[in-house]
Amino acid sequence: MKSVEQHVLDLLELVAPIDPVELGLIEAHGAVLAEPVTSPVSLPHFDNSSMDGYAVVAADVAGASPENPVRLPVVADIPAGDTSATTIRPGQCARIMTGAPLPGGATAVVPVEWTDGGTEQVSLTRDVSDGGAVRRSGEDIEAGAEVLREGVRVGAAEMAVLASVGRRTVRVRPRPRVVVLSTGEELVEPGRPLGPGQIWESNSFMLTAAALDAGCTADRYGFIGDDPATVLETLEGVLPQADIVLTTGGVSMGAYDAVKEVLSRQGTVRFEKIAMQPGMPQGFGTVGGTKTPILTLPGNPVSSFVSFHLFVRPALQRMRGLPAEPPPTVRARLTAPVASSPKGKRSFLRAVLEHDHAAEGAGRAYTVTPVARQGSHQLSALAGSNALAVVPEAVTELAEGSVVEVVKLPDAY
Ligand code: AMP
Ligand code: MG
Repeated sequence: MKSVEQHVLDLLELVAPIDPVELGLIEAHGAVLAEPVTSPVSLPHFDNSSMDGYAVVAADVAGASPENPVRLPVVADIPAGDTSATTIRPGQCARIMTGAPLPGGATAVVPVEWTDGGTEQVSLTRDVSDGGAVRRSGEDIEAGAEVLREGVRVGAAEMAVLASVGRRTVRVRPRPRVVVLSTGEELVEPGRPLGPGQIWESNSFMLTAAALDAGCTADRYGFIGDDPATVLETLEGVLPQADIVLTTGGVSMGAYDAVKEVLSRQGTVRFEKIAMQPGMPQGFGTVGGTKTPILTLPGNPVSSFVSFHLFVRPALQRMRGLPAEPPPTVRARLTAPVASSPKGKRSFLRAVLEHDHAAEGAGRAYTVTPVARQGSHQLSALAGSNALAVVPEAVTELAEGSVVEVVKLPDAY
């Protein structure tokens, strides 16, 4: 059987970073920069006031105090956006608003709080030094300087930087388009009545949500039955919309495992057993003339959930042009024993990870409690779990208090 690590490596080799495109700023949200971004101009672009107040020659207000205010004539009124290129002479001042260009001749701004707010004449009751309340041109960004590195994900802060250096569009690797297709003759759309032997379909919803959480766009195709011809036809039909296809079901040893049957015949997808539980049967390869990557996940809901976090997520990160790191792990003490774990397979137990600040110094900050129902069909405990406790391949049981590696699930960071 193949190791978990080897399978991750194989998937990282299968997928490649998506080709860059030029996108408008809002469209680029969640995409990854494929160019370093520089500023064409210095920012601030011009000297301006950081306060509402009065632009002055600092020397004119030397020694000003509430007892000895300095009175100056107000020769201009300068709102933000003012284009009149005002200047003042010594002995004069101009009323000025935050962000407004500093008038020529002024060396500082006295905040309005330190004045009587006059419009013809103003009393200034505090002195200021040269440069006080002035934002100098270039003090944030020098013209030509790099403001964002290539490979950075465009979030809210990056969006602000892009706009502030005047960009309308940016070259990025867009969010990968993930198409999710489940298979199984027993599946019924939630909201419709269940017949005998049927279950409500959940995997495609889970994977669509997980792919969105992972920074992709996701298209829930839904589900189809176990007819091999339909599986192939459907897969070919979704290719134009897909940078990667995820399927669930039909990849184990059953007689009607259609995904495995048709894709084995195509010869472009490998089906393997990974030394893990849940999630042992996995397939990966490409479909169609487009050679679109496809990952075929097992049908058991918990298996496909675990497969997503261990295998799909790193592959999606690579497609985005981000470091394809494994999910973060911490070491934690088991609050309960693990009665049995299969020899030769790495177990991933759904668990609740808790952090205790008070125990930080003693190296016991984290505890982990595996949930009671661990069957790969048992979904009930999945939503309450925030982690997967790892039982190594060689270990078959663990005492309470044992320290184990724990994979943190994304919602928990
Ligand atoms: P399979 O991998 O197709 O043999 O399916 C394994 C188990 O997972 C079976 O009990 C299926 O009914 C169940 N299953 C498969 N696909 C889904 C799905 N999309 N949603 C919920 N359960 C599923
Ligand atoms: Mg099935």
